[in-house]
Amino acid sequence: MLTTGPVPAYPEVLEALGSPVLYDYHPAFQTFYAEVTEKLRKALRTETTPVIMQGEAILGIEAAAAALIAADDVVLNLVSGPYGREFDTWAGRYGKEVIEQAVPYDDVIDPQVVREALARRPDISVVSLCHHETPCGTLNPLNEIGAIVASHGACLIVDAVSSFGGMSVHPEEAHADIFITSPSKCLGSTPGLSLIALSERAWAKIQANPDAPRNSFLSLLAWRNASEPGKPFPVTPSVSEIYALDAALDRHAQEGPENVWARHAVTAAITRKGLFELGLPLWPKQEAFCSPTATVFKVPQGVSDVALRDRLLHDHGILVSLGRGETTGKVLRVGHMGASAEPDFARQFIAALTAILAEPFSAD
Ligand SMILES: *Cc1c(COP(=O)(O)O)cnc(C)c1O
Repeated sequence: MLTTGPVPAYPEVLEALGSPVLYDYHPAFQTFYAEVTEKLRKALRTETTPVIMQGEAILGIEAAAAALIAADDVVLNLVSGPYGREFDTWAGRYGKEVIEQAVPYDDVIDPQVVREALARRPDISVVSLCHHETPCGTLNPLNEIGAIVASHGACLIVDAVSSFGGMSVHPEEAHADIFITSPSKCLGSTPGLSLIALSERAWAKIQANPDAPRNSFLSLLAWRNASEPGKPFPVTPSVSEIYALDAALDRHAQEGPENVWARHAVTAAITRKGLFELGLPLWPKQEAFCSPTATVFKVPQGVSDVALRDRLLHDHGILVSLGRGETTGKVLRVGHMGASAEPDFARQFIAALTAILAEPFSAD
């Protein structure tokens, strides 16, 4: 499964999923929850205690928008792909005005353009960015953009769902006030939780926002102190998913984050080189824009994306992802995330693609 998420979970994760399900008020579970939160904080390299929300990453992204964006906020939404575009819906629902700064989906956001947009509209108070646009395989220059947003004084919301864990990206380095990621991409765990780092500034803004969800499944405030011993959970946490996350974080720490990132980068580089040798162009306009966690390439002229995907699966047992949104029908996407970020898998994928394309292509 060389998919772009969910991805195959590490064996340690699958084993942890089989652990007995503890009552959430069992003191042992409460202690365990606090320990997992602390492991997550270390992985995120942040000072503040992160929040785990009990639903797949979109819950975290929507919760971030609902909590941080107040009725008088002007939001600059940076769009370089479908995830950035989808954020418009939430920004528009909660804020006063959304200014969209978009680029074509094979391109990335230029930090200078962000600087100019902020200079034109000093009233912009929140900026949102998707770090890795998974449907496009493109990586935005997050840290540079983050520094610009910070010097303007606005808050930054970052979707780092498909990059965190697979490369060096961390909320504080990025000046992110809210940084959302997922266990089910580069951490190699299961889809079912949102992992969220928040700055003190973000918490203060959320606390001051009368419209921030309270008594709601969307409430970040409700989960703020959930890892403190003796505190009741707002609702029953996804107990087994927490076991899985714990195993994924242990695995990440034991292999060493730098080694994990290198494994992702090498796998992506082998994939790009193989595609280049086959004469198949990458979707991103420049190779420098390419992510180490997913490679997106254009399907050859006269070949259907679905037929090529099916041949890879049926003849070689390799499953890749189709395009999404604007890239639908034009590309195939190969994930290098967690357990699938293995150089040998990249070689097998290129060998399979070479074999398929060596014959006259037929869909059946
Ligand atoms: C996977 C992913 C999410 C999570 O959302 P789904 O579409 O439900 O998988 C959010 N943002 C990005 C960039 C992702 O890759």
